[in-house]
Amino acid sequence: MRPEILFPFYADTESLTGVGGRIAALLEKLVGRKVGDLFWHLPVDMIDRRSNPALDDIDYDQIATLEVTVGKHDAPPQKSRRPYRVFCHDDSGEIQLIFFHARGDYLRRQLPEGQKRLISGKVEMSGSHLQMSHPDYMLPLDKRDEIPAVEPVYPLTAGISGKVMAKIIRHALERLVDLPEWQDMSVMAREGWPSWKEAVLKLHNPEKPEDLDMKCPARMRLAYDEFLANQLALVIMRQQARKKKGRILKSKGPLKAQVLANLPYELTMAQKESLTEIEEDLSAPYAMMRLLQGDVGSGKTVVALLAMLVAVENGAQAAMIAPTEILARQHFDSLQDMIKGTGLRLAVLTGRDKGKSREAILASLSTGEIDILVGTHALFQKDVMYHDLAMAVIDEQHRFGVEQRLALAAKGNADYTMDILAMTATPIPRTLTLTAYGDMDGSRLWEKPPGRKPVDTRTIPLNRLDEVVRGLRRALEGGARVYWICPLVEESEALDFAAAEERHRTLQKIFGNRVGLVHGKMKAREKDAVMADFSAGKIDILVATTVIEVGVNVPEATVMVIEHAERFGLSQLHQLRGRVGRGADKSICLLLYGALQSEASKARLKIMRETEDGFVIAEEDLKLRGAGELLGTRQSGLPSFKVASLEDHGALIAMARDDAKLILQKDPDLSSERGKALRILLYLFDRDEGVRYLASG
Ligand code: ADP
Ligand code: MG
Repeated sequence: MRPEILFPFYADTESLTGVGGRIAALLEKLVGRKVGDLFWHLPVDMIDRRSNPALDDIDYDQIATLEVTVGKHDAPPQKSRRPYRVFCHDDSGEIQLIFFHARGDYLRRQLPEGQKRLISGKVEMSGSHLQMSHPDYMLPLDKRDEIPAVEPVYPLTAGISGKVMAKIIRHALERLVDLPEWQDMSVMAREGWPSWKEAVLKLHNPEKPEDLDMKCPARMRLAYDEFLANQLALVIMRQQARKKKGRILKSKGPLKAQVLANLPYELTMAQKESLTEIEEDLSAPYAMMRLLQGDVGSGKTVVALLAMLVAVENGAQAAMIAPTEILARQHFDSLQDMIKGTGLRLAVLTGRDKGKSREAILASLSTGEIDILVGTHALFQKDVMYHDLAMAVIDEQHRFGVEQRLALAAKGNADYTMDILAMTATPIPRTLTLTAYGDMDGSRLWEKPPGRKPVDTRTIPLNRLDEVVRGLRRALEGGARVYWICPLVEESEALDFAAAEERHRTLQKIFGNRVGLVHGKMKAREKDAVMADFSAGKIDILVATTVIEVGVNVPEATVMVIEHAERFGLSQLHQLRGRVGRGADKSICLLLYGALQSEASKARLKIMRETEDGFVIAEEDLKLRGAGELLGTRQSGLPSFKVASLEDHGALIAMARDDAKLILQKDPDLSSERGKALRILLYLFDRDEGVRYLASG
């Protein structure tokens, strides 16, 4: 139930004066559909019109409001490209107003010769004289009020001008109401924070440059509000999960011992530690909700298997779900290897399994003949019945939505909440783990299996493609296998394939038919066939769009070429590079770049040359973020914030976390006065998922 006080914020933007269907649609893309969404659309700059200099006091370009007397008009002859000029002056000097494509009759009406006028806009020094092109305001002296002293400048979208945006937001702000204070009064006093409403108004009405500072008190207040909402929601979810009864699954050992004996290696310290943490969760009377973070190649799969074995040793079933068909099949293959001789019954189910084969799998699943089922989202479709599913592993968990995770959890035993082990290869800086995964416990694979050789990473301009091709020829003669990644062109999937297909063709011309192609538009079966050929060495070069990003494991591949590397985010480059350097041979990664437009893109490539540590890369990625939209950032699994910026306000997260815990300890149902105010906060930031778990207050 939404708090009534917020109803006006939930109105469609179309209810605002000046917003029709067309503008509402544009606004929806930029900020959202609700009036309240506009509150968070904050100015990034301001125009200060308060300066009223005499003309001879102006000696640099500046925004100013001038009081002048209009002089001669100089209209250009018909069809001339010369601009229309109006000469104006005050007691101290002269200025020319300049208009391109002007209508003379209009200008003569606005600026009658001999009359005084207020002119506001950008004054420019042009050689020895002053000029202003297309003033923003030209008004008689008695209309001074119509010129705003300071105007906020908003981020825009095509189709909405600055003036229109400012007007729409002004109307939206008229709907603001005072909300009961949810912040602690002593904290507010200590930090010098304004109330919520004051903060919003202040940020939309900057008066001095400091008001635009990301660290000004109003901005800090709202950032803290947002982090607090985020942390409260996570803590509520977490407490909720802890309340549910979990099954006690104790590791018995024989299966584990057999699998460990099968492995051609010893577990790393990090793998052992993580497994211990997982086993403790499983044996506890509450449901496990643990995230295993481990860089590519850190060995998550075997940890997942050993965890699933605990469920099987207790007579139950386990499931492992991956975001793509390729990954699911690959997990199946490697698990199959590891369980040899154990008598465990393993099966794989994906969207590709249909008809008879699917029915057969479902039948043995429901009778308990299958111990471990690996697959894609096909695992939790409606008609998939488990005999007794006690535990699920979710690989690349950020690829799955909340509903999908819930659908999976619903497949468990009705008396208990299922144990969940989520995994991710996207390393996340520590501060962010709190905002992204605060509702889970965490384990980290902080070291990689021994013996990995570093990947030799080089950056090369795209116009030296010839050299790259020559180098590839040598590598292929030496038996190398090569990934060649073509970037996703956001906005246009069609262009993507075109680019990848084109590259495939040119490489085929050079290297013959040992060049394969995979991209997202292909059918799963076709993709698998190409991947299998690459894995088996029937093809040597695999041209791919980023579909191979996660998890694919071909240890024989030693060369990774990434075209237009400057377009990728750091984390994504890191993921891609992680596809090589997996075998005994030395690997190389070539980052081909086009135009390096920004400092950030240069910095990214430099970091890639300098380190292979996923956690270091994640920290750097965070620092460079915001410096332009990157491909694939939306897949990164990081939460997005409306006003808070992780770069500027990250230090507030831990404080919000502690605050949230304390608040819920004292007032678990948010039913006190402050608790009720905090409920409003949760709705305000769309973090109200957890509210329904609370007793109504
Ligand atoms: P990821 O964490 O990326 O999923 P995988 O589980 O696919 O990593 O493991 C990557 C490779 O490392 C696999 O070939 C696996 O057999 C191997 N591996 C895993 N653990 C160890 C270990 N402790 N020692 C040596 N090799 C290992
Ligand atoms: Mg993996």
